[in-house]
Amino acid sequence: MSVAVKSARPRRIKSTLQRPDKFYVYDDGDESSSESTMTKCASNGTQTRDEQKLLSTHTIQKSNVLITPRKKLKKRKVKLMDWKKYHRLNVIYAFIDDLEKDFPAICTVTVIGKSVEGRDIKMLKISNSNAGNSGVWMDACIHSREWITTAVVTYMANVLVRNFHTFSDAVTNKDWHIVPVLNPDGYEYTHTHERMWRKNRAKYGGECVGVDLNRNFSYAWGQGDEGSSDDPKHVFYRGPAPFSEPESIAVRDAILGSVVPFKAFLSFHSYYELIIFPWGNRTDPCPDYVRLLEAGSIMARAIFETTGKTYKVGSTKDLTYYACGTSIDWSYSIAKIPYSYMVELRSRKNKFRLPKDQIPETCSEAWNAVQKLMDYVDKH
Ligand SMILES: [Zn+2]
Repeated sequence: MSVAVKSARPRRIKSTLQRPDKFYVYDDGDESSSESTMTKCASNGTQTRDEQKLLSTHTIQKSNVLITPRKKLKKRKVKLMDWKKYHRLNVIYAFIDDLEKDFPAICTVTVIGKSVEGRDIKMLKISNSNAGNSGVWMDACIHSREWITTAVVTYMANVLVRNFHTFSDAVTNKDWHIVPVLNPDGYEYTHTHERMWRKNRAKYGGECVGVDLNRNFSYAWGQGDEGSSDDPKHVFYRGPAPFSEPESIAVRDAILGSVVPFKAFLSFHSYYELIIFPWGNRTDPCPDYVRLLEAGSIMARAIFETTGKTYKVGSTKDLTYYACGTSIDWSYSIAKIPYSYMVELRSRKNKFRLPKDQIPETCSEAWNAVQKLMDYVDKH
C-alpha cells in the first residue's frame, strides 16, 4: 500500500531510536552533526511494552515512502524540550516548529489565531495526507494553570511523529490537530505572575478580568445560574457573548473550516482524573451516552493497565457540576464530533501542581488511552 505524503520524492531514512530503555528528546541540532536529531536523557522506567517496542524501532519505513528527520539541522534558538519538567511557551513552540522542520512530510504548523495579547495560537497537524483520513482534535491549557495537559499533548506529538509508521492504521489514518497551548497569554501569566490563573487575559471595563474560555462556546452559553457566571471577577466568567474571545474563535474556525471530518475532540484538563463527555448543561443523557460511556471506559481501562491509576468515566454533570458553554458540548452538538471528551488528568492529590516526576507516567497513560479510543472510533 502506498502512502501519500506532502512530498512525492522518497526521503532517505535514518532512525536514531535505538535504546528502548531511554527517553529521547530532540536537541539543538548542531550544524556539525550529520547524524542524530535526538539525544537521550535519563531513563524514566515507565514505558509500556508497546512504547518500548516503538522506541526501539530501528527503521521507520513503509512501502516506498521513507520519512526521516533531516540529516543536517539548522541552528536552533531553543533546546531542551523534554518531559522531565514544565516548559515555557517559547520552548513548546520551538519544539513543534522543529518537528515540522525535521519531519516535513507529516508535520505542519499553522497559526490558527492570535490571543488577546497578540500571541500566536499554534496548531501542529500530523498527517500522512491520505484522502480518507478523519480528524482528531487535541487541545491543552485552555485553562492556563493546568500545565500537565501541555506536557501530555506534546509527548503524544513527539512519540507519534518519531514513530509514525510503526503505529496501527487506526492511528495513522487520522489527521491529528494538536494545539499545545490554547490560552497562551494565561499560560505565560501563570509562569510570570500568578501560578493559579485559569482564564485568558481579556480586558473588560478597562481592566483585565479574564474570561473562562471553557464557558465561552456557543452551545448553552449563559444558560442557568450555576454553569457559568456573568460576573467578570468570577472564575467561571463566560464573557460578554458566545465566542467573544479570540482563543475560542480559533477553535471554532479551525474545526468548522476544516474539510476533514472530525471523529474525536479531546480537550485536556486537570486535575480530577476523569474522562467526561456531554452534557454539562443538563442532567439528562446525551443521545450517544452509552457509546461515549463505553469508549470512555476503554480509555480508563488503558490508563489503569498502564499505571494502575483509576479515572472515573461519565457525563460532565454527573461527575462534576453544571458547566454551560463548554467546548465539548459545542464540539458534540454544533460541530457534530461524535467522540467529544474532556480528559481531566492527574492529580486529585496535588491538584494543579502535579510534581514533575509524575509527568512521564501521566503522558504514558494518556497516550495509551488515546490510542485505544482510535481503535474504538474505527470499529464503531
Ligand atoms: Zn480545566
